[in-house]
Amino acid sequence: MAGIELERVSKVYPDGTRAVTDLSIDVMDGEFLVVVGPSGCGKTTALRMIAGLEKISDGEVRIDGEVVNTVPARDRDVAMVFQSYALYPHLTVFDNIAFGLTLRKTPRDVVERRVREVAEVLELGEHLRRKPRHLSGGQRQRVAMGRAIVREPRAFLMDEPLSNLDAKLRGQMRAQIARIQRDLGVTTVYVTHDQTEAMTLGDRVAVMRAGVLQQIASPQQLYDEPVDMSVAGFIGSPAMNMVVAGFDLDDAGRAAVSFGGHRLAVPEIVLRRRPALAGYAGRRLVLGIRPEDMDDAALVDGPDGSTLDSVADLVEAMGADVMVHFPIDAEQARSEEHETLDRESGRVRAPGGGALLVGRFSPRVRIFEGQPITVRVDTEGLHFFDIDTGRSIR
Ligand code: ATP
Repeated sequence: MAGIELERVSKVYPDGTRAVTDLSIDVMDGEFLVVVGPSGCGKTTALRMIAGLEKISDGEVRIDGEVVNTVPARDRDVAMVFQSYALYPHLTVFDNIAFGLTLRKTPRDVVERRVREVAEVLELGEHLRRKPRHLSGGQRQRVAMGRAIVREPRAFLMDEPLSNLDAKLRGQMRAQIARIQRDLGVTTVYVTHDQTEAMTLGDRVAVMRAGVLQQIASPQQLYDEPVDMSVAGFIGSPAMNMVVAGFDLDDAGRAAVSFGGHRLAVPEIVLRRRPALAGYAGRRLVLGIRPEDMDDAALVDGPDGSTLDSVADLVEAMGADVMVHFPIDAEQARSEEHETLDRESGRVRAPGGGALLVGRFSPRVRIFEGQPITVRVDTEGLHFFDIDTGRSIR
């Protein structure tokens, strides 16, 4: 086991592509760190630099306190699990799992015992004599895991190990990976673009964008206190709604935000939690509302100044909840109501064609497309961002 430290690590590929810039991360001994971000943000490059599969252009990588910048991959004692599994097709499951041990000339009886132990943990015991082509995707993935585990490496490095599996299997394997990592307590760096994986697996989550670390924090902290609009928009599904709003604060210390003909009172506790908001009095900012902080006002009570009137534009029943899309600008939507309700579709289109908010409503609501709605907003959960910098105001 070992901690992994990246200190101001950068990577510029020979063709001049700057994939990672000044990345500093301390992964603690035994920690499960997930690196997440959109495609091309440099996650894989960062992982490959830890593994020793990619040369570092600048900075320092340390494993267990030892600088490994020039240590070849095979001597770093870390195990990498790839998206493609990279199994040997001509070897049995047993031999695939045993590969790293055999390579290191481990005594046969030790190999036998270790492989069987690991196969037991991964529920592969019945399949040891099979070849990879006779396995399901989930089983192959477990063989790839087994090969990493059996070596008892100082750390696991995983690059989107579940992305080739269907959604159900992905959920199962996710739980299995979490359990194995917890049982073994091996330091793990896990790369994914899937925020559900990030939020459920990570002790901490590092969010990257365009080669730069945006924020590293516990999943809850990322969700509650995103540092900027990009993290706020990336964490949470559906994504946080963001609208430009006016912010005002009266002499009595009462604050409100206004947008699209709506006015929401900002609770005092929010002002206390975000003292910097006071500096935005009379200015515009970006208001963030999480879909899950909205519901039908007929079902949920709330203080005055916590509702939005609009018209349901699109209603998606998801079973556990209902996604209700509605235009931000309710006035405009209403004025167009007659015209658009008579149309073939029977739906009210959003003014301007796209300015919709989405709320994740309780499944008890019965809302039809085109129906006027009153939306209750949990205003304690409002987010605020600087309109120029995108940084969270707090
Ligand atoms: P994905 O989720 O799509 O795998 P990623 O976040 O893992 O993306 P990387 O694979 O690390 O991103 O790539 C980061 C950037 O570096 C991208 O712009 C990519 O095109 C570029 N890149 C990756 N490998 C090379 C290479 N060998 N030569 C030049 N550029 C590269």
